Amino acid sequence: MGEFDLIRRFFIWPTPQAVLGVGDDCALLQSAPGMQLAISTDMLVSGRHFFADTDPQGLGHKCLAVNLSDLAACGARPVAFTLALALPEANPAWLEPFAQGLLALADAHGCELIGGDTTRGPLNICITVLGEVPAQSLAARKPPLPTSALLRSGAQAGDDVYVSGTLGDAALALQALQGRVTLPTEVLAQARQRLERPSPRVALGLALRNIASACADVSDGLTGDLGHILERSGLGAQVDTEGLLQLLAARQGFPGGGAQFDQQVGAALDPQQPEGLALRCVLAGGDDYELVFCADPTQRAAVQAAATRSGTPVTRIGTMQAAPGLRLVDGLGCTVAPPCASFDHFSASGSRPA
Ligand code: ADP
Ligand code: MG
Repeated sequence: MGEFDLIRRFFIWPTPQAVLGVGDDCALLQSAPGMQLAISTDMLVSGRHFFADTDPQGLGHKCLAVNLSDLAACGARPVAFTLALALPEANPAWLEPFAQGLLALADAHGCELIGGDTTRGPLNICITVLGEVPAQSLAARKPPLPTSALLRSGAQAGDDVYVSGTLGDAALALQALQGRVTLPTEVLAQARQRLERPSPRVALGLALRNIASACADVSDGLTGDLGHILERSGLGAQVDTEGLLQLLAARQGFPGGGAQFDQQVGAALDPQQPEGLALRCVLAGGDDYELVFCADPTQRAAVQAAATRSGTPVTRIGTMQAAPGLRLVDGLGCTVAPPCASFDHFSASGSRPA
């Protein structure tokens, strides 16, 4: 199978929104009046972001999901994407399920594959997504910018801090798959879903336009991604660790409850700090693809309505403060030392395939 047969067979899908899709030197998109393009790229490298033998259908899903998650964080509606693929070989038994996983998620979000590039090389998948947001400035945006996109900047001291869904299960699944912790079969199966089939929170991002003051997606762990909001907004935050522990679905759903999770799974890693594992997964796990966002306390009802409208639960975890830095406090209000930093590909400890 040649390069062009491969593209024709697996990567030409209907593109009703695009003026021109795959097949020419460029694809053509007509932007709607008053709308801006939101553009983001994410690359997934074999051995770095996923194991080489990962199920190709799940991989097709995940490599688009991580890109849609960036659009979600900006409150942008997905429109189209391009796919740059380096493949060791043209293997239909791999390409077919990969394309299926990719297409199913693309269809679910009305996001059209409009072009790409295909070369031979070590497996590497790079997607660029395009979305749209209204160009008008938000009344509440400080400083003013001509866009309705949710940004990392814009949070104010006193804002509530929220996260969507659950956090840390993808990281926990990775720990289990790498043999560092042992989980009951059912608990592992659910955590693994989070690692392999993340759900980008596109509907929530759209619903939070005009409500959230700042937003980011949680791809590298809460500490790091909330850290981006703190840095870009020039603020700090206080977050309560009791609330964070409730965010790990595997711990909440553990037979016997959270205390049993800590005793059976957490204590096996560190008997001195049985809840350390759960806290580390939530704070530094990564690969969750939830949203972390801020909103003025007067917006609490609006935030809950956005959560309901988008079918995505949200939890209030803390408060933005003027003093820079992230402060963790326990249920009694005592300061807790962060169990570790978040993931960084170039730090000494950056060694996961995830
Ligand atoms: P060029 O030589 O101009 O870079 P190519 O010959 O690489 O173009 O690609 C031919 C057409 O196929 C282009 O429209 C390109 O966008 C599209 N294409 C190539 N690879 C992919 C892919 N993996 N998925 C979708 N479209 C692709
Ligand atoms: Mg060309």
